[in-house]
Amino acid sequence: METQIVSRSHGWLELAKKYIEAGEVVAFHTETVYGLGANALSDEAVLKIFELKGRPADNPLIVHVHREYDISPLIDSEPSYAAALRRAFLPGPLTMVYPSTGKVSKHVSCGLNTLAIRVPSSPTAQEFLKAVDLPIAAPSANLSKHVSPVSARHVYEDFSGKIPLILDGGACSGGIESTVLDCTGEVPQILREGLVTREMISSVAGECVIYHAQKGEKPKSPGMAYKHYSPRCKTAFFNEDRLDEAVSLYNEAEKKGETPCFLCESDVCALLHGFRTLDLGGTGEVMAQRLYDLLRKGEKTATLLIGVEPKEKGGVMAGVLNRMRRAFGVEHGTEES
Ligand code: AMP
Ligand code: MG
Repeated sequence: METQIVSRSHGWLELAKKYIEAGEVVAFHTETVYGLGANALSDEAVLKIFELKGRPADNPLIVHVHREYDISPLIDSEPSYAAALRRAFLPGPLTMVYPSTGKVSKHVSCGLNTLAIRVPSSPTAQEFLKAVDLPIAAPSANLSKHVSPVSARHVYEDFSGKIPLILDGGACSGGIESTVLDCTGEVPQILREGLVTREMISSVAGECVIYHAQKGEKPKSPGMAYKHYSPRCKTAFFNEDRLDEAVSLYNEAEKKGETPCFLCESDVCALLHGFRTLDLGGTGEVMAQRLYDLLRKGEKTATLLIGVEPKEKGGVMAGVLNRMRRAFGVEHGTEES
């Protein structure tokens, strides 16, 4: 199968509509990362997504719809805080988990009685969803466990010859996956941190908690059980106060003929003058935008990627840090594919 990359030019929507209606999988740009989308009403189309990604069968998908208005037929009930959050943050990088009406394929939620749903804001995603006029189930458009894609080229690297179409909207402005928020309880609960932060949610809903699976407990977000975002090279991860150790590791690796490289924030890059570095930038927003692109660059150019943990931990950085720790294999047990 030939994989076509098209941007928003003449005939692109007809093409996307044709493939989705035929039960095919189409990759599309969103403001977070690229998605691998299929008709959420079709069992066969949804199962194709799992097969293409090599995604574990118990890791549910997010359904993407064109407008807030399209959410209500798919969900059973909505607490008042969720309605307020929806109005405040949608369209945008917030996925809300609701009790499901069971209208979409049972494979979307992998047997759970809840549904994760979001309204993406990118013009490419918006026009695509409007044209197909169907709920679109879509996880990130990367092979399971690999680094999430933030350009059409990244999607092509993982799925060339396997899907017919990639809707190219350029680089993703957000750069990390949506915040996943459980809206089935009395208080909103963050299952996965992202660009809509706990502080932002609390400011609208009054309160917001971060969910942590207890030891031995099956995580609420099944994807949380999986290692994720891994570059295909050796990795190591250090706090900034252990920079000396990181430098020793780099030097040892180089002596052995390897190609080590640091991935760290701008201030630390400046200290590492003369070493190979990939610069994450200086703010949470910029680090979110650059992280996946640099992880993919790292795996292509280095044999050992040495991550240094950024100093800032709050706000958007909570989501960035969560992805970095998974990518560098520091923490398992809280992510997905
Ligand atoms: P991805 O689209 O690859 O970013 O992954 C979707 C994320 O949403 C994973 O972490 C899933 O576990 C989570 N998710 C999807 N549906 C549900 C649901 N019904 N309940 C809880 N988490 C969900
Ligand atoms: Mg993913």
